[in-house]
Amino acid sequence: MSTPTVVGPSPSGGGPVPSLTDNELAVLQRAAQGQTYAVIARDLGFAEKSVTKIAYRMARKLGALNITHAVFLACRAGLLDGRPRRHGDHAGFAAHVYRGEEPCEACLAGERAYRRDRKVARKAAKVHAA
Ligand SMILES: [Zn+2]
Repeated sequence: MSTPTVVGPSPSGGGPVPSLTDNELAVLQRAAQGQTYAVIARDLGFAEKSVTKIAYRMARKLGALNITHAVFLACRAGLLDGRPRRHGDHAGFAAHVYRGEEPCEACLAGERAYRRDRKVARKAAKVHAA
C-alpha cells in the first residue's frame, strides 16, 4: 500500500488559495449545486465542451483529481461559502488581502476613500479635542 498523496490547497488558515477566473468560479459554484455540465453550459451560454475544459482547468488549479474532488477542496478552502464576494470598499479590500490576492481596482479605490474619510474624521476629532 502506498502513502496517500496530499493534494489540493490546505484547509482554511493554511496556504494560499489558488485564484480562479470568473468562469471557473461560475462552473465550480454550479457544479457544487449538483448541476450537470450540460445545464451549466446552457446557463452560461457556453458549449458543453467549453464547460468541460473550464472545469478541467479549474480542477487542475485546485489540485483536484476530478470535479467532485474539486468541489470538496474548494469547499474546504472557503471558495464556496455561498456569499457573493464584496468589492469596492474597505471590507472588500481586506478580504482580498486576507485571501492573499492583489486587490481589484474597485477595492483599491474603496480603500483609498476609506482611508481619506478616516483621516478627515481623525482631524475633526483632534480639532474638537483642542
Ligand atoms: Zn475587489
